[in-house]
Amino acid sequence: MLREDHKTIKHEFDLWHIVKGVKKRMLQSRNTEWVRTVSNHLWYCVCTCDGDALLLKDKWMSILHHIINVHEWLSAEKMLKCEHEL
Ligand SMILES: [Zn+2]
Repeated sequence: MLREDHKTIKHEFDLWHIVKGVKKRMLQSRNTEWVRTVSNHLWYCVCTCDGDALLLKDKWMSILHHIINVHEWLSAEKMLKCEHEL
């Protein structure tokens, strides 16, 4: 309905529901130790992306590099390294 009848309305997802969904999926797995870390990372990404969806995606995906001990990469557009000190 928003897409067809209200094209001028900019729709954004509710972060609380997104984090809840990610946590629910992670809690269904056996590895629950990462639940808090990953949900904190998602909150951090949303709160520091300044509304930039591409930056949000790059920040969110950075956790995949970080958890395998890779802190710089080329496969992103706006974020090419972790934000912690290297
Ligand atoms: Zn890192």
